[in-house]
Amino acid sequence: MERVYNFSAGPSMLPESVLQRAATEMLSYENSGMSVMEMSHRSPVYEKIILGAEETLRRVMGIPEDYKVLFLQGGASTQFSAVPLNLMNGSKKADYILSGQFSTKAYQEAQKYGDAFAVASSKDKNFSYIPKTEAKDFRADADYAHICLNNTIYGTKFPYIPDTGNIPLVADASSCILSEPIDISKFGLVYAGAQKNMSAAGLTVVIVKESLLGKARAETPTMLDYKVMADNGSMYNTPPCWCIYIAKLVCEWIESLGGLTEMKKRNEKKAGLLYGYLDSQDYYFAPVEKECRSLMNVTFVTGNPELDKKFALQASENGLVNLKGHRSVGGMRASIYNAMPQAGVEKLVAFMEKFALENPKT
Ligand SMILES: *Cc1c(COP(=O)(O)O)cnc(C)c1O
Repeated sequence: MERVYNFSAGPSMLPESVLQRAATEMLSYENSGMSVMEMSHRSPVYEKIILGAEETLRRVMGIPEDYKVLFLQGGASTQFSAVPLNLMNGSKKADYILSGQFSTKAYQEAQKYGDAFAVASSKDKNFSYIPKTEAKDFRADADYAHICLNNTIYGTKFPYIPDTGNIPLVADASSCILSEPIDISKFGLVYAGAQKNMSAAGLTVVIVKESLLGKARAETPTMLDYKVMADNGSMYNTPPCWCIYIAKLVCEWIESLGGLTEMKKRNEKKAGLLYGYLDSQDYYFAPVEKECRSLMNVTFVTGNPELDKKFALQASENGLVNLKGHRSVGGMRASIYNAMPQAGVEKLVAFMEKFALENPKT
């Protein structure tokens, strides 16, 4: 079967050239006589892969020297507890901005460990916007503040980086990492599950300022202690070897295209095409406030659940798959991560036009 345009929110499309490269190297990676999946994580050949992955990620993202890069397991969701276990150890206060389901889950998890406080929320309008905050909204003695940079389910992204004064800012960047340049120095910690825009499911990347390490609570499971993982080069135990290898290939692919500045340009062009069409007609409705629109996840509805259902089904028959929206929003969601080609978005817009003509609302 021909490859389809896969609009899944995650796991999602990977660049075809990366898949092909992995296929070429599948049976024997660089004369090792084995695949990356089969080799010891302590072998010199694998050591080169994990060090190369970190080096390339650092270069692509411009990660400052005084930050550690950790390759972990457990998904972004495990970070919902790892963050408070490692950082909520002074006043045991942490301030959360609730901008969707994942940030709400992170906030609820943190409540198990101390005084987690919701500074602001956009739940009143089904998370269709990003709440505005100022430095004074945050508690001066909070151990950290937490945000979710891009809200995968609702299709919003922070149009600004909150000013939290001296409080370290922690960000869940699962669905926007590598989509555009990001100034890591504004954050104490950034984490991301890799299966949206970086690699296969099974890898979580944590980028953390060194000065925040070594403060984990005594009861922190060893596997969740950032300092232990940092001191062992993410190899305290077996790391997600294959996913790290794919992440390296993805970063090399981004670099070969011109880095994150070029990635941003491409992503703005793709998203611009879709939002431009949505704004030009009144058959579909985009529920998200304009200034908070995500570059990665575009949500829209027809206003009629039966038509929405038909849309997703027919799109699928036309090689445009996984467009059904998340159950909490309904309608459609087109996730257009880095690996989605411009041609996929063009085909989607053409399909939307055709569908609107063929299915008038009565
Ligand atoms: C997908 C996603 C998560 C959950 O990731 P897992 O790796 O499945 O735990 C958390 N936050 C955001 C923003 C996501 O997009």
